[in-house]
Amino acid sequence: MARIIVLGGGVCGLASGMLLTRDGHEVTVLERDAAPVPESVEEAFETWARDGVVQFRLAHILLPAGRAILEERLPDVFEAFLSAGAARLDLLGLMPPNLAEGGARPGDERFVTYTARRPVIEQVLGKAAACEPGLEVRRGTVVRELTMRVGNGAPHVTGVRLDSGETLNADLVVDAMGRGSQLPRWLSDANIGPLHEESEDSGFIYYGRYFRSADGTTPQPFGPLLAPMGTFSILTLPSDNGTWAVTIVASSGDQVLKRMRHPELWTAVIEACPLHAHWLEGEPIGDLESMGGVLDRYRRPVVEGRPLLTGIALLGDAWACTNPSLGRGISLGLLHTQCLREVVSSHLDDPVQFAEAWDAATEAQLTPWYRETVEEDRDRLHEIDALRNGLEPAPPSERSAVLRGALNTALLHDPDLFRAYLASRAVLTPLGETFAQDGVAERALELADANERVAFPGPSREDLLALLS
Ligand SMILES: Cc1cc2nc3c(=O)[nH]c(=O)nc-3n(C[C@H](O)[C@H](O)[C@H](O)COP(=O)(O)OP(=O)(O)OC[C@H]3O[C@@H](n4cnc5c(N)ncnc54)[C@H](O)[C@@H]3O)c2cc1C
Repeated sequence: MARIIVLGGGVCGLASGMLLTRDGHEVTVLERDAAPVPESVEEAFETWARDGVVQFRLAHILLPAGRAILEERLPDVFEAFLSAGAARLDLLGLMPPNLAEGGARPGDERFVTYTARRPVIEQVLGKAAACEPGLEVRRGTVVRELTMRVGNGAPHVTGVRLDSGETLNADLVVDAMGRGSQLPRWLSDANIGPLHEESEDSGFIYYGRYFRSADGTTPQPFGPLLAPMGTFSILTLPSDNGTWAVTIVASSGDQVLKRMRHPELWTAVIEACPLHAHWLEGEPIGDLESMGGVLDRYRRPVVEGRPLLTGIALLGDAWACTNPSLGRGISLGLLHTQCLREVVSSHLDDPVQFAEAWDAATEAQLTPWYRETVEEDRDRLHEIDALRNGLEPAPPSERSAVLRGALNTALLHDPDLFRAYLASRAVLTPLGETFAQDGVAERALELADANERVAFPGPSREDLLALLS
Protein backbone atom coordinates (compact mmCIF):
# COMPACT_ATOMS: atom_id res chain seq x y z
CA MET A 1 0.00 0.00 0.00
CA ALA A 2 1.32 3.44 -0.95
CA ARG A 3 0.64 6.89 0.39
CA ILE A 4 -0.62 9.02 -2.53
CA ILE A 5 -1.46 12.73 -2.58
CA VAL A 6 -3.60 14.01 -5.44
CA LEU A 7 -3.37 17.76 -6.05
CA GLY A 8 -6.67 19.08 -7.38
CA GLY A 9 -10.19 17.80 -6.79
CA GLY A 10 -11.63 18.22 -10.29
CA VAL A 11 -12.92 15.29 -12.32
CA CYS A 12 -9.53 13.56 -12.72
CA GLY A 13 -8.42 14.23 -9.15
CA LEU A 14 -11.60 12.80 -7.68
CA ALA A 15 -11.82 9.82 -10.03
CA SER A 16 -8.19 8.86 -9.51
CA GLY A 17 -8.56 9.38 -5.76
CA MET A 18 -11.47 6.94 -5.62
CA LEU A 19 -9.90 4.34 -7.89
CA LEU A 20 -6.53 4.36 -6.14
CA THR A 21 -8.25 4.11 -2.76
CA ARG A 22 -10.18 1.09 -4.01
CA ASP A 23 -6.87 -0.45 -5.08
CA GLY A 24 -5.82 -0.30 -1.43
CA HIS A 25 -3.73 2.89 -1.34
CA GLU A 26 -3.95 5.58 1.28
CA VAL A 27 -5.05 8.64 -0.73
CA THR A 28 -5.62 12.30 0.09
CA VAL A 29 -7.07 14.71 -2.46
CA LEU A 30 -6.20 18.37 -1.86
CA GLU A 31 -8.55 20.86 -3.52
CA ARG A 32 -7.97 24.61 -3.42
CA ASP A 33 -11.63 25.68 -3.76
CA ALA A 34 -13.25 25.69 -0.34
CA ALA A 35 -16.94 25.36 -1.20
CA PRO A 36 -18.39 22.00 -0.15
CA VAL A 37 -20.13 19.75 -2.67
CA PRO A 38 -23.74 20.96 -2.98
CA GLU A 39 -26.57 18.61 -2.08
CA SER A 40 -28.44 18.90 -5.38
CA VAL A 41 -27.35 19.06 -9.00
CA GLU A 42 -29.30 22.26 -9.60
CA GLU A 43 -27.53 23.93 -6.68
CA ALA A 44 -24.26 22.74 -8.21
CA PHE A 45 -25.13 24.39 -11.53
CA GLU A 46 -26.53 27.57 -10.04
CA THR A 47 -24.36 28.42 -7.07
CA TRP A 48 -21.34 26.12 -6.54
CA ALA A 49 -18.27 28.40 -6.35
CA ARG A 50 -15.62 26.61 -8.44
CA ASP A 51 -13.19 29.40 -9.24
CA GLY A 52 -10.48 26.80 -9.85
CA VAL A 53 -12.29 25.57 -12.99
CA VAL A 54 -12.89 28.54 -15.30
CA GLN A 55 -14.95 26.46 -17.75
CA PHE A 56 -17.22 25.11 -14.99
CA ARG A 57 -20.48 26.46 -16.48
CA LEU A 58 -19.54 26.15 -20.15
CA ALA A 59 -20.77 23.36 -22.40
CA HIS A 60 -19.51 19.88 -21.51
CA ILE A 61 -20.23 16.43 -22.86
CA LEU A 62 -19.07 13.10 -21.48
CA LEU A 63 -18.11 11.07 -24.55
CA PRO A 64 -18.62 7.30 -24.89
CA ALA A 65 -15.04 6.42 -23.88
CA GLY A 66 -15.43 8.36 -20.64
CA ARG A 67 -18.85 6.86 -20.04
CA ALA A 68 -17.43 3.34 -20.50
CA ILE A 69 -14.66 3.92 -17.95
CA LEU A 70 -17.11 5.36 -15.44
CA GLU A 71 -19.55 2.50 -16.00
CA GLU A 72 -16.93 -0.25 -15.77
CA ARG A 73 -14.56 1.12 -13.13
CA LEU A 74 -16.83 3.17 -10.88
CA PRO A 75 -20.22 1.47 -11.40
CA ASP A 76 -21.72 2.96 -8.23
CA VAL A 77 -20.78 6.48 -9.39
CA PHE A 78 -22.23 5.69 -12.80
CA GLU A 79 -25.51 4.61 -11.17
CA ALA A 80 -25.59 7.84 -9.16
CA PHE A 81 -24.92 9.74 -12.39
CA LEU A 82 -27.96 8.14 -14.02
CA SER A 83 -30.08 8.87 -10.93
CA ALA A 84 -28.94 12.51 -11.12
CA GLY A 85 -30.57 12.71 -14.54
CA ALA A 86 -27.70 12.08 -16.98
CA ALA A 87 -29.07 11.99 -20.52
CA ARG A 88 -28.60 9.03 -22.87
CA LEU A 89 -27.09 10.01 -26.19
CA ASP A 90 -26.43 7.52 -28.98
CA LEU A 91 -23.96 9.10 -31.40
CA LEU A 92 -25.17 6.67 -34.08
CA GLY A 93 -28.44 8.57 -33.94
CA LEU A 94 -26.56 11.27 -35.86
CA MET A 95 -26.17 8.93 -38.84
CA PRO A 96 -28.06 10.05 -41.96
CA PRO A 97 -31.19 7.93 -42.58
CA ASN A 98 -29.85 6.46 -45.86
CA LEU A 99 -26.88 4.93 -44.00
CA ALA A 100 -28.88 3.92 -40.94
CA GLU A 101 -31.03 1.66 -43.14
CA GLY A 102 -28.26 -0.94 -42.88
CA GLY A 103 -29.37 -1.44 -39.26
CA ALA A 104 -27.46 -1.83 -36.01
CA ARG A 105 -24.30 -3.93 -35.82
CA PRO A 106 -22.64 -5.80 -32.99
CA GLY A 107 -20.48 -3.32 -31.09
CA ASP A 108 -22.60 -0.30 -31.93
CA GLU A 109 -23.40 0.13 -28.24
CA ARG A 110 -19.89 1.57 -27.88
CA PHE A 111 -21.21 4.79 -29.38
CA VAL A 112 -23.71 5.34 -26.58
CA THR A 113 -22.97 7.80 -23.83
CA TYR A 114 -24.67 9.32 -20.83
CA THR A 115 -23.89 12.94 -20.37
CA ALA A 116 -24.59 15.91 -18.12
CA ARG A 117 -23.60 19.48 -17.36
CA ARG A 118 -20.10 19.77 -15.89
CA PRO A 119 -21.34 20.82 -12.41
CA VAL A 120 -23.56 17.71 -12.40
CA ILE A 121 -20.69 15.37 -13.31
CA GLU A 122 -18.58 16.91 -10.59
CA GLN A 123 -21.33 17.02 -7.97
CA VAL A 124 -21.98 13.29 -8.42
CA LEU A 125 -18.26 12.45 -8.24
CA GLY A 126 -17.72 14.87 -5.35
CA LYS A 127 -20.51 13.33 -3.27
CA ALA A 128 -19.27 9.82 -4.00
CA ALA A 129 -15.68 10.74 -3.14
CA ALA A 130 -16.79 12.33 0.14
CA CYS A 131 -18.38 9.01 1.16
CA GLU A 132 -15.58 6.77 -0.10
CA PRO A 133 -14.23 4.79 2.86
CA GLY A 134 -10.54 5.54 3.36
CA LEU A 135 -10.37 8.48 0.93
CA GLU A 136 -9.67 11.89 2.40
CA VAL A 137 -10.77 14.94 0.38
CA ARG A 138 -9.62 18.24 1.85
CA ARG A 139 -11.31 21.25 0.27
CA GLY A 140 -10.07 24.78 0.83
CA THR A 141 -6.50 23.47 0.93
CA VAL A 142 -3.96 25.39 -1.12
CA VAL A 143 -0.76 23.60 -2.03
CA ARG A 144 2.19 25.98 -2.04
CA GLU A 145 5.08 23.80 -3.24
CA LEU A 146 6.52 20.33 -3.57
CA THR A 147 8.96 18.93 -1.05
CA MET A 148 11.95 17.11 -2.55
CA ARG A 149 14.84 14.85 -1.79
CA VAL A 150 17.90 15.65 -3.85
CA GLY A 151 20.64 13.03 -4.18
CA ASN A 152 22.72 11.60 -7.00
CA GLY A 153 19.93 10.91 -9.44
CA ALA A 154 16.88 12.93 -10.45
CA PRO A 155 15.28 14.92 -7.59
CA HIS A 156 12.51 12.93 -5.93
CA VAL A 157 9.22 14.49 -4.79
CA THR A 158 8.57 13.47 -1.20
CA GLY A 159 5.31 15.35 -0.66
CA VAL A 160 3.86 18.85 -0.56
CA ARG A 161 3.88 21.91 1.61
CA LEU A 162 0.56 23.67 2.10
CA ASP A 163 -0.09 27.39 2.34
CA SER A 164 -0.71 26.80 6.04
CA GLY A 165 2.91 25.59 6.35
CA GLU A 166 1.84 21.99 7.01
CA THR A 167 3.90 19.34 5.21
CA LEU A 168 2.39 16.10 3.91
CA ASN A 169 4.58 13.18 2.84
CA ALA A 170 3.77 10.77 0.03
CA ASP A 171 5.20 7.95 -2.05
CA LEU A 172 3.58 9.57 -5.08
CA VAL A 173 2.17 13.02 -5.78
CA VAL A 174 -0.34 13.31 -8.63
CA ASP A 175 -0.65 16.71 -10.31
CA ALA A 176 -4.34 16.95 -11.24
CA MET A 177 -4.41 20.76 -10.94
CA GLY A 178 -5.88 21.20 -14.40
CA ARG A 179 -5.04 23.84 -16.99
CA GLY A 180 -3.85 26.21 -14.27
CA SER A 181 -1.31 23.79 -12.75
CA GLN A 182 1.65 25.75 -11.38
CA LEU A 183 4.02 22.80 -11.58
CA PRO A 184 6.57 24.43 -13.96
CA ARG A 185 6.84 27.45 -11.66
CA TRP A 186 7.32 25.23 -8.61
CA LEU A 187 10.02 23.30 -10.45
CA SER A 188 11.74 26.47 -11.59
CA ASP A 189 11.65 27.82 -7.99
CA ALA A 190 13.40 24.59 -6.96
CA ASN A 191 15.96 24.98 -9.81
CA ILE A 192 14.63 21.93 -11.64
CA GLY A 193 13.88 21.81 -15.31
CA PRO A 194 12.55 23.16 -17.48
CA LEU A 195 10.25 20.29 -18.32
CA HIS A 196 9.36 19.82 -21.96
CA GLU A 197 6.41 22.08 -22.74
CA GLU A 198 4.60 22.92 -25.97
CA SER A 199 2.10 25.69 -25.49
CA GLU A 200 0.19 28.14 -27.68
CA ASP A 201 -3.14 29.90 -27.72
CA SER A 202 -5.51 27.59 -29.58
CA GLY A 203 -6.97 30.66 -31.26
CA PHE A 204 -10.59 29.89 -30.36
CA ILE A 205 -13.13 31.71 -28.24
CA TYR A 206 -16.40 30.31 -26.85
CA TYR A 207 -19.80 31.92 -26.29
CA GLY A 208 -22.29 29.52 -24.79
CA ARG A 209 -25.45 29.18 -22.83
CA TYR A 210 -27.55 26.39 -21.32
CA PHE A 211 -31.28 25.97 -21.92
CA ARG A 212 -34.00 23.82 -20.39
CA SER A 213 -37.24 22.48 -21.84
CA ALA A 214 -40.54 22.50 -20.00
CA ASP A 215 -41.16 18.78 -20.66
CA GLY A 216 -37.72 17.26 -20.02
CA THR A 217 -36.95 16.62 -23.70
CA THR A 218 -33.95 17.95 -25.63
CA PRO A 219 -33.90 19.22 -29.23
CA GLN A 220 -33.34 16.87 -32.14
CA PRO A 221 -29.87 17.30 -33.72
CA PHE A 222 -29.99 17.73 -37.53
CA GLY A 223 -26.29 17.20 -38.18
CA PRO A 224 -23.09 16.77 -36.19
CA LEU A 225 -22.84 18.13 -32.64
CA LEU A 226 -20.07 20.47 -33.84
CA ALA A 227 -21.07 22.04 -37.16
CA PRO A 228 -18.67 24.28 -39.12
CA MET A 229 -20.63 27.34 -40.34
CA GLY A 230 -18.03 29.18 -42.39
CA THR A 231 -16.16 31.52 -40.05
CA PHE A 232 -17.66 30.11 -36.85
CA SER A 233 -18.93 26.75 -35.59
CA ILE A 234 -21.99 25.81 -33.59
CA LEU A 235 -21.74 23.21 -30.86
CA THR A 236 -25.03 21.76 -29.62
CA LEU A 237 -24.91 19.33 -26.70
CA PRO A 238 -27.93 17.56 -25.22
CA SER A 239 -27.51 17.27 -21.45
CA ASP A 240 -29.11 16.11 -18.18
CA ASN A 241 -32.62 16.78 -16.90
CA GLY A 242 -33.98 18.33 -20.10
CA THR A 243 -31.09 20.78 -20.44
CA TRP A 244 -28.77 21.43 -23.35
CA ALA A 245 -25.93 23.73 -24.29
CA VAL A 246 -25.64 25.91 -27.38
CA THR A 247 -22.19 27.33 -28.04
CA ILE A 248 -20.66 29.42 -30.77
CA VAL A 249 -16.97 28.76 -31.33
CA ALA A 250 -15.15 31.53 -33.18
CA SER A 251 -11.60 32.53 -34.01
CA SER A 252 -10.30 34.74 -31.20
CA GLY A 253 -8.64 36.94 -33.85
CA ASP A 254 -12.00 37.75 -35.43
CA GLN A 255 -12.72 41.01 -33.61
CA VAL A 256 -16.20 41.60 -35.09
CA LEU A 257 -17.42 38.23 -33.86
CA LYS A 258 -16.57 39.25 -30.30
CA ARG A 259 -19.83 41.18 -30.38
CA MET A 260 -21.45 37.81 -29.85
CA ARG A 261 -20.85 38.29 -26.14
CA HIS A 262 -24.08 40.34 -26.26
CA PRO A 263 -26.91 37.82 -25.76
CA GLU A 264 -29.23 39.45 -28.34
CA LEU A 265 -26.56 39.30 -31.07
CA TRP A 266 -25.56 35.75 -30.14
CA THR A 267 -29.23 34.77 -30.39
CA ALA A 268 -29.60 36.51 -33.76
CA VAL A 269 -26.67 34.54 -35.19
CA ILE A 270 -28.11 31.18 -34.09
CA GLU A 271 -31.55 32.17 -35.36
CA ALA A 272 -29.96 32.72 -38.77
CA CYS A 273 -28.91 29.04 -38.90
CA PRO A 274 -31.96 27.00 -40.03
CA LEU A 275 -30.71 23.63 -38.75
CA HIS A 276 -29.81 25.08 -35.36
CA ALA A 277 -32.37 27.77 -34.55
CA HIS A 278 -34.67 25.27 -32.80
CA TRP A 279 -31.97 24.76 -30.13
CA LEU A 280 -33.03 28.17 -28.78
CA GLU A 281 -36.54 26.90 -28.03
CA GLY A 282 -36.18 26.55 -24.30
CA GLU A 283 -35.77 28.63 -21.18
CA PRO A 284 -32.21 30.02 -20.89
CA ILE A 285 -30.61 28.91 -17.64
CA GLY A 286 -27.59 30.84 -16.46
CA ASP A 287 -25.93 33.66 -18.33
CA LEU A 288 -24.27 33.66 -21.71
CA GLU A 289 -20.75 32.58 -20.69
CA SER A 290 -17.64 33.24 -22.71
CA MET A 291 -14.08 31.98 -22.55
CA GLY A 292 -11.04 32.89 -24.63
CA GLY A 293 -7.29 32.43 -24.18
CA VAL A 294 -7.78 28.66 -24.37
CA LEU A 295 -4.36 27.04 -24.60
CA ASP A 296 -3.23 23.92 -26.40
CA ARG A 297 -0.55 22.77 -24.00
CA TYR A 298 1.44 19.57 -23.55
CA ARG A 299 3.95 18.86 -20.79
CA ARG A 300 6.41 16.04 -20.48
CA PRO A 301 8.73 15.80 -17.47
CA VAL A 302 11.14 13.59 -19.38
CA VAL A 303 14.02 15.26 -21.15
CA GLU A 304 16.34 13.39 -23.53
CA GLY A 305 14.78 10.13 -22.44
CA ARG A 306 15.41 10.70 -18.73
CA PRO A 307 12.89 11.67 -16.06
CA LEU A 308 13.56 15.19 -14.84
CA LEU A 309 12.25 14.21 -11.43
CA THR A 310 10.55 11.22 -9.83
CA GLY A 311 7.70 10.74 -7.38
CA ILE A 312 5.18 12.75 -9.41
CA ALA A 313 2.66 12.01 -12.18
CA LEU A 314 1.04 14.68 -14.35
CA LEU A 315 -2.59 13.73 -14.97
CA GLY A 316 -5.45 15.01 -17.13
CA ASP A 317 -5.35 18.68 -18.08
CA ALA A 318 -2.24 19.20 -15.93
CA TRP A 319 -0.50 16.90 -18.43
CA ALA A 320 -2.10 18.22 -21.62
CA CYS A 321 -5.10 20.31 -22.58
CA THR A 322 -6.46 21.50 -25.90
CA ASN A 323 -9.08 23.66 -27.47
CA PRO A 324 -12.13 21.77 -26.17
CA SER A 325 -14.57 21.92 -29.08
CA LEU A 326 -14.32 18.15 -29.56
CA GLY A 327 -15.28 17.65 -25.88
CA ARG A 328 -12.51 15.14 -25.17
CA GLY A 329 -10.91 16.46 -21.97
CA ILE A 330 -12.81 14.52 -19.34
CA SER A 331 -12.85 11.29 -21.34
CA LEU A 332 -9.11 11.52 -21.97
CA GLY A 333 -8.59 12.38 -18.31
CA LEU A 334 -10.50 9.26 -17.27
CA LEU A 335 -8.46 7.19 -19.73
CA HIS A 336 -5.33 8.67 -18.18
CA THR A 337 -6.65 7.79 -14.73
CA GLN A 338 -7.01 4.21 -15.90
CA CYS A 339 -3.36 4.21 -17.03
CA LEU A 340 -2.33 5.65 -13.68
CA ARG A 341 -3.90 2.76 -11.80
CA GLU A 342 -2.06 0.24 -13.95
CA VAL A 343 1.32 1.94 -13.67
CA VAL A 344 0.91 2.45 -9.91
CA SER A 345 0.03 -1.22 -9.45
CA SER A 346 3.13 -2.46 -11.27
CA HIS A 347 5.89 0.12 -10.76
CA LEU A 348 5.44 2.16 -7.62
CA ASP A 349 8.25 0.37 -5.79
CA ASP A 350 10.90 1.90 -8.03
CA PRO A 351 10.57 5.69 -8.62
CA VAL A 352 12.69 5.76 -11.80
CA GLN A 353 10.86 2.78 -13.29
CA PHE A 354 7.58 4.42 -12.34
CA ALA A 355 8.49 7.69 -14.06
CA GLU A 356 9.56 5.84 -17.21
CA ALA A 357 6.50 3.60 -17.28
CA TRP A 358 4.17 6.56 -16.68
CA ASP A 359 5.78 8.46 -19.52
CA ALA A 360 5.59 5.44 -21.84
CA ALA A 361 1.92 4.77 -21.03
CA THR A 362 1.01 8.43 -21.51
CA GLU A 363 2.89 8.67 -24.80
CA ALA A 364 1.34 5.47 -26.14
CA GLN A 365 -2.25 5.96 -25.05
CA LEU A 366 -2.85 9.69 -24.68
CA THR A 367 -0.42 11.65 -26.84
CA PRO A 368 -1.89 10.48 -30.19
CA TRP A 369 -5.20 12.05 -29.12
CA TYR A 370 -3.50 15.29 -28.16
CA ARG A 371 -1.69 15.51 -31.50
CA GLU A 372 -4.79 14.72 -33.58
CA THR A 373 -6.91 17.26 -31.70
CA VAL A 374 -4.35 20.03 -32.16
CA GLU A 375 -3.89 19.20 -35.86
CA GLU A 376 -7.62 19.28 -36.50
CA ASP A 377 -7.95 22.62 -34.72
CA ARG A 378 -5.12 24.13 -36.71
CA ASP A 379 -6.78 23.06 -39.98
CA ARG A 380 -10.06 24.59 -38.90
CA LEU A 381 -8.41 27.84 -37.85
CA HIS A 382 -6.64 28.12 -41.22
CA GLU A 383 -9.94 27.51 -42.95
CA ILE A 384 -11.63 30.23 -40.87
CA ASP A 385 -8.79 32.67 -41.53
CA ALA A 386 -9.02 32.12 -45.29
CA LEU A 387 -12.80 32.53 -45.31
CA ARG A 388 -12.56 35.71 -43.21
CA ASN A 389 -10.31 37.13 -45.86
CA GLY A 390 -12.62 36.10 -48.69
CA LEU A 391 -10.23 33.38 -49.89
CA GLU A 392 -10.76 29.77 -50.80
CA PRO A 393 -9.04 27.69 -48.07
CA ALA A 394 -5.82 26.20 -49.41
CA PRO A 395 -5.98 22.42 -49.88
CA PRO A 396 -4.11 20.66 -47.07
CA SER A 397 -0.67 19.32 -47.79
CA GLU A 398 -0.18 16.91 -44.86
CA ARG A 399 -1.54 13.45 -45.62
CA SER A 400 -3.32 13.24 -42.25
CA ALA A 401 -5.16 16.50 -43.02
CA VAL A 402 -6.05 15.32 -46.52
CA LEU A 403 -7.53 12.13 -45.08
CA ARG A 404 -9.39 13.95 -42.33
CA GLY A 405 -10.90 16.30 -44.90
CA ALA A 406 -11.85 13.38 -47.14
CA LEU A 407 -13.49 11.55 -44.25
CA ASN A 408 -15.69 14.57 -43.47
CA THR A 409 -17.28 14.17 -46.90
CA ALA A 410 -17.05 10.40 -47.28
CA LEU A 411 -18.65 9.57 -43.93
CA LEU A 412 -22.07 10.54 -45.30
CA HIS A 413 -21.78 7.87 -48.00
CA ASP A 414 -20.48 4.81 -46.21
CA PRO A 415 -21.66 3.31 -42.91
CA ASP A 416 -18.19 1.94 -42.09
CA LEU A 417 -16.61 5.34 -42.55
CA PHE A 418 -19.36 6.95 -40.51
CA ARG A 419 -18.54 4.54 -37.70
CA ALA A 420 -14.81 5.23 -38.10
CA TYR A 421 -15.51 8.94 -37.76
CA LEU A 422 -17.67 8.34 -34.67
CA ALA A 423 -14.98 6.13 -33.14
CA SER A 424 -12.67 9.13 -33.28
CA ARG A 425 -15.32 11.55 -32.01
CA ALA A 426 -16.12 9.15 -29.15
CA VAL A 427 -12.41 8.84 -28.13
CA LEU A 428 -12.42 5.13 -28.99
CA THR A 429 -9.98 4.91 -31.93
CA PRO A 430 -7.70 7.72 -33.14
CA LEU A 431 -8.02 8.48 -36.86
CA GLY A 432 -4.34 7.64 -37.40
CA GLU A 433 -5.08 4.06 -36.33
CA THR A 434 -8.21 3.87 -38.46
CA PHE A 435 -6.46 5.11 -41.59
CA ALA A 436 -3.66 2.59 -41.04
CA GLN A 437 -6.19 -0.19 -41.65
CA ASP A 438 -6.23 -1.74 -45.12
CA GLY A 439 -8.30 0.15 -47.67
CA VAL A 440 -9.82 2.74 -45.31
CA ALA A 441 -7.85 5.74 -46.57
CA GLU A 442 -8.40 4.76 -50.21
CA ARG A 443 -12.15 4.37 -49.69
CA ALA A 444 -12.40 7.77 -47.96
CA LEU A 445 -10.44 9.49 -50.76
CA GLU A 446 -12.51 7.79 -53.46
CA LEU A 447 -15.84 8.80 -51.89
CA ALA A 448 -14.64 12.33 -51.18
CA ASP A 449 -13.67 12.63 -54.84
CA ALA A 450 -17.05 11.47 -56.02
CA ASN A 451 -19.15 13.65 -53.70
CA GLU A 452 -19.54 17.29 -52.72
CA ARG A 453 -18.63 18.45 -49.23
CA VAL A 454 -21.83 19.23 -47.31
CA ALA A 455 -22.20 22.81 -46.10
CA PHE A 456 -24.57 23.62 -43.26
CA PRO A 457 -27.03 26.43 -44.02
CA GLY A 458 -26.30 29.67 -42.23
CA PRO A 459 -25.46 33.31 -42.78
CA SER A 460 -22.82 34.23 -45.34
CA ARG A 461 -19.86 36.20 -43.99
CA GLU A 462 -21.51 39.35 -45.28
CA ASP A 463 -24.81 38.51 -43.57
CA LEU A 464 -22.97 37.65 -40.39
CA LEU A 465 -21.21 41.01 -40.30
CA ALA A 466 -24.52 42.75 -40.97
CA LEU A 467 -26.17 40.83 -38.11
CA LEU A 468 -23.40 41.88 -35.74
CA SER A 469 -23.14 45.50 -36.86
C1 LIG B 1 -14.64 25.92 -22.61
C2 LIG B 1 -14.34 24.48 -22.28
C3 LIG B 1 -15.26 23.49 -22.60
C4 LIG B 1 -14.97 22.15 -22.33
N1 LIG B 1 -15.84 21.18 -22.72
C5 LIG B 1 -15.56 19.89 -22.50
C6 LIG B 1 -16.45 18.87 -22.89
O1 LIG B 1 -17.48 19.10 -23.51
N2 LIG B 1 -16.12 17.58 -22.58
C7 LIG B 1 -14.96 17.27 -21.95
O2 LIG B 1 -14.72 16.08 -21.71
N3 LIG B 1 -14.10 18.22 -21.57
C8 LIG B 1 -14.36 19.51 -21.83
N4 LIG B 1 -13.48 20.47 -21.44
C9 LIG B 1 -12.24 20.06 -20.81
C10 LIG B 1 -12.47 19.68 -19.36
O3 LIG B 1 -13.08 20.74 -18.67
C11 LIG B 1 -11.14 19.32 -18.73
O4 LIG B 1 -10.48 18.43 -19.57
C12 LIG B 1 -11.29 18.70 -17.38
O5 LIG B 1 -11.85 19.61 -16.48
C13 LIG B 1 -9.95 18.27 -16.84
O6 LIG B 1 -10.11 17.79 -15.55
P1 LIG B 1 -8.92 17.87 -14.50
O7 LIG B 1 -9.42 17.17 -13.30
O8 LIG B 1 -7.67 17.46 -15.15
O9 LIG B 1 -8.76 19.44 -14.21
P2 LIG B 1 -9.79 20.47 -13.60
O10 LIG B 1 -11.17 20.01 -13.81
O11 LIG B 1 -9.43 21.80 -14.16
O12 LIG B 1 -9.51 20.45 -12.05
C14 LIG B 1 -8.32 21.00 -11.49
C15 LIG B 1 -8.56 21.24 -10.02
O13 LIG B 1 -7.35 21.57 -9.38
C16 LIG B 1 -7.59 22.58 -8.42
N5 LIG B 1 -6.33 23.27 -8.14
C17 LIG B 1 -5.62 24.09 -8.96
N6 LIG B 1 -4.51 24.53 -8.34
C18 LIG B 1 -4.49 23.99 -7.10
C19 LIG B 1 -3.59 24.07 -5.99
N7 LIG B 1 -2.46 24.81 -6.01
N8 LIG B 1 -3.89 23.36 -4.86
C20 LIG B 1 -5.02 22.60 -4.82
N9 LIG B 1 -5.90 22.51 -5.84
C21 LIG B 1 -5.64 23.18 -6.98
C22 LIG B 1 -8.65 23.45 -9.10
O14 LIG B 1 -9.37 24.22 -8.16
C23 LIG B 1 -9.53 22.39 -9.77
O15 LIG B 1 -10.56 21.95 -8.94
C24 LIG B 1 -13.75 21.81 -21.70
C25 LIG B 1 -12.84 22.81 -21.36
C26 LIG B 1 -13.11 24.13 -21.67
C27 LIG B 1 -12.07 25.17 -21.36
